[in-house]
Amino acid sequence: MYDMIIVGGGPAGMTAALYGLRNGKSCLVIEKATFGGQITHSPRVENYPGTLQMSGNEFGEKLLDQILHQGADIEMATVTGIRDQGDMKLVDTEEGTVFEGRAVILATGVEHRRLGLPGEEELIGAGISFCATCDGDFFAGQDVCVAGGGNSALQNAMLLSGICRSVTILQDLPRLTGEQRLQDALSEKANVKILTGVAIEKLHSENDSLTGLTICHKENGSSSFLPCTGLFIAIGMVPQNGVFKGLTDLDQAGYMDVDENCRTRTRGVYAAGDCRKKHVRQVATAVADGACAAMAAIEDMQ
Ligand SMILES: Cc1cc2nc3c(=O)[nH]c(=O)nc-3n(C[C@H](O)[C@H](O)[C@H](O)COP(=O)(O)OP(=O)(O)OC[C@H]3O[C@@H](n4cnc5c(N)ncnc54)[C@H](O)[C@@H]3O)c2cc1C
Repeated sequence: MYDMIIVGGGPAGMTAALYGLRNGKSCLVIEKATFGGQITHSPRVENYPGTLQMSGNEFGEKLLDQILHQGADIEMATVTGIRDQGDMKLVDTEEGTVFEGRAVILATGVEHRRLGLPGEEELIGAGISFCATCDGDFFAGQDVCVAGGGNSALQNAMLLSGICRSVTILQDLPRLTGEQRLQDALSEKANVKILTGVAIEKLHSENDSLTGLTICHKENGSSSFLPCTGLFIAIGMVPQNGVFKGLTDLDQAGYMDVDENCRTRTRGVYAAGDCRKKHVRQVATAVADGACAAMAAIEDMQ
């Protein structure tokens, strides 16, 4: 049995492991997709204290190296539920393996919000993407759109402007909401067009690949067809905490409600990082949560 099982190998989960290991606890980190989590989608992180600039991938890799060096066990699997047996928690995975731990730290982060349009799921990987860093190169020289107007959308658009023939930003609100610095930089790009007050109504495809969008101009209700072979969706993130709701309270948006030391209402179960209710979702706050959750778990084990 592990002292700590950590669900999610993002900044929060790997930091929790680091603090557990440094305190002599055995730790297993279970990750379903990519060690490093969401930050691996960021080409440039410039707001992590003590580091002028780094790529999200670099940060994820360094954190993984650090916990492996300290003796972490890691597992690629999707956790489907936790069974509370008092001093022992059973962690179930989609793959069928069940892991035993004295404490469980949930650090499952958030996932990309969808537009909710027919055909969207089928076109993911066939025109629709959530990550310009990961997939931008597939659209070299092509016409692409970016849905959203916040920092993630603008960062995606910046990156794509250097790869694609044209980039059209589609924002359903009347104005962009991302940092002014990014807006200014984009306004200087000749191949970037910004459309505000527009909603994507329909996805068009041929031979199972995206060919364009029908967009609705909210001001006058008119619709038009916008040809494009790529659509990068950056309209926010949603938590995936439904499977843990028996152990922890979720707020209306589905985020786990914990105390300031990341304790849930179930003894021995903690929640850290973007998956919990909080105001600021950043690497700095995720790693802080990971440290707090691990220290709370260690204290409760004594
Ligand atoms: C494009 C982009 C750019 C960003 N830029 C910055 C920036 O410049 N600076 C900054 O501070 N922050 C930035 N962020 C935000 C930052 O990445 C997050 O705040 C941070 O990654 C949160 O860490 P986390 O560990 O809580 O969650 P996540 O990073 O989301 O990690 C959670 C992990 O849990 C895994 N997981 C989820 N459910 C399960 C399950 N059931 N079983 C197993 N594994 C599971 C997921 O696969 C994921 O790897 C950016 C985010 C994005 C998307």
